[in-house]
Amino acid sequence: MNTNRSPFFKGQGSRPYWIAGPCSAETEQQVLETAHGLKDAGIDLFRAGIWKPRTRPGDFEGNGSPALPWLQRVKEETGLSVCTEVANAQHAEEALRCGVDVLWIGARSTTNPFSVQEIADALQGVDIPVMVKNPINPDIKLWMGALERIERAGIKKVAVIHRGFSTFGKDKYRNQPRWQLAIELKRQFPDLAFICDSSHICGSREWLYDVSQKALDLNYDGIMLEVHPRPHEAWSDALQQITPDQYKEVKSKLNFRYSSTDDVDFLDSLEALRGQIDEIDDEILALLEARMKLCDGIGRFKKRNNIAILQTSRWSEILEKSIAKGQRKGLSSELISGVMKAVHQESINRQHKVMRDA
Ligand code: PEP
Ligand code: MN
Repeated sequence: MNTNRSPFFKGQGSRPYWIAGPCSAETEQQVLETAHGLKDAGIDLFRAGIWKPRTRPGDFEGNGSPALPWLQRVKEETGLSVCTEVANAQHAEEALRCGVDVLWIGARSTTNPFSVQEIADALQGVDIPVMVKNPINPDIKLWMGALERIERAGIKKVAVIHRGFSTFGKDKYRNQPRWQLAIELKRQFPDLAFICDSSHICGSREWLYDVSQKALDLNYDGIMLEVHPRPHEAWSDALQQITPDQYKEVKSKLNFRYSSTDDVDFLDSLEALRGQIDEIDDEILALLEARMKLCDGIGRFKKRNNIAILQTSRWSEILEKSIAKGQRKGLSSELISGVMKAVHQESINRQHKVMRDA
């Protein structure tokens, strides 16, 4: 995997890379009206879906190729660069022919290596930036695999788009962000550009600012938002689109965080605080070591007396007591239950080993 990527999507160093535009290119008039509304909004890329992958048949599936010249007109009239989603080789070839500046691979396509490979083959030897959305299922390897296929075709300017993961049942968000997954991916590929598609994570206008700011707090490089002149009338994703004016307002409120600084005072204070954190982490590790040694002893003891490892009532008591104590210390029940469950599982694993081996 490439570890020396182009900074194309890296938001010019001190600000995010901004992508905005309608979910779908519905009519030439709607596309141009949106683009003119965004012309002075300081965006880097205008988006519009030409081919729309809809979950159910019968929904608006995009205008297809006849809508490509509308994007050309956006370029001519506003000077904005344009991007669209491609889901197969034919889409990619037509988009290239019509001067689309940047392509993206949608979440449903990323789940299918055949589709991604077909697109990669069509782009072989072409110098066009490509963004790869996360697959609808939370699988980092599949996401990276798609990116790798694109990079192997010789594409140098790449980014990933985090648009959240499908869930069953009702949730606050349309697609769960599962930030931890993206954080792990950033840890593994620190030079990869990350764009947050807050619109598809949220599924509603309400949380767009919060989710976008959270992404910037996590040092994402860019934000993609869906914008429509009359969101309520949109032919797709009506609930999550905002007007160009609302977009400008959200954008103006968002704070970009720098990845680093050379302010010596700040760096000194940060280092001191990190030193304290490292000491506490060492203490936590020493305590975990001591706790696990005790668990090994308990395992041997239970084995001698032929007693089962899992004592449900004791485990419930530990968990409930810890959550209650944690809450009094201002620690969330999610944190305490996550930590205690991990500790308890490891304790069971160790006792199993003791019973088997000793
Ligand atoms: C879109 O960007 O309009 C879209 C269809 O997104 P996704 O692939 O994330 O569902
Ligand atoms: Mn959409």
